[in-house]
Amino acid sequence: MRQQLVKAEKLKAVEQMGAAISHEIRNPLTAASGFVQLLEDDHLPRQKRKEYLSIVKEELNSAERVIQDYLTFAKPSIETYEELNLKSELKQIINIVQPLAKQNSVEIITDFSVIGMIKGDRQKFRQCFVNVLKNAIEAMPNGGYLSVSTKFNQSYVTICVNDTGMGMTGKQIERLGEPFYSTKGKNGTGLGMMVVYSIVRAMGGTISVESKEGVGTTFSFKFPTLTSILKKQI
Ligand code: ADP
Ligand code: MG
Repeated sequence: MRQQLVKAEKLKAVEQMGAAISHEIRNPLTAASGFVQLLEDDHLPRQKRKEYLSIVKEELNSAERVIQDYLTFAKPSIETYEELNLKSELKQIINIVQPLAKQNSVEIITDFSVIGMIKGDRQKFRQCFVNVLKNAIEAMPNGGYLSVSTKFNQSYVTICVNDTGMGMTGKQIERLGEPFYSTKGKNGTGLGMMVVYSIVRAMGGTISVESKEGVGTTFSFKFPTLTSILKKQI
């Protein structure tokens, strides 16, 4: 009974989140379409036309960002659990964020242990780490180093993501994962880390954060290895 209740509560929370997010997408789209209507006026002065077009662009970008942080890879579908090779997964994820890194003059350094298999939903794993790496790169607007490394032992794999970016205060670290918490103003969604925390939790992993303002941030993710999951099942 208690378990059913928890499940119902969880479902409700997921539904509420879904509603809040579709709101975050619909709002800018409605605004954009309103300005498009105004743009249909043939007598609109050139200056106004320019102004409205830039608003439309901004609103569309804002909807796009929410979709990117929340829905690009991890479509709200039935989860498929598969064996993931950490090294090749991370390599693919790094390829995805490479253009953004280049744009910010960020150099990506990797150091992967030879092996490391974990169990999880590939799309969600990808969504999770794209969000983490994007944040790291965005924390270095004037360039820097982003290093991604993995360690492996019998019971768990550790993925370390370190940046030489702006860092966070203790208060900011505490708020990580809170829906819509962002320090990036209109350029942020505040959804990336919420998605990260929920995916890592679902995969039975943990997150720890170390950060120093003006120096950088290290996120460490621990996931149970395939061998340790199999052992538990026996
Ligand atoms: P967004 O990126 O849209 O702001 P996120 O949920 O992805 O939202 O991140 C929330 C906040 O966490 C960011 O606005 C930023 O303040 C902080 N943050 C996350 N990762 C880092 C990082 N590597 N360095 C500094 N701040 C970070
Ligand atoms: Mg983000």
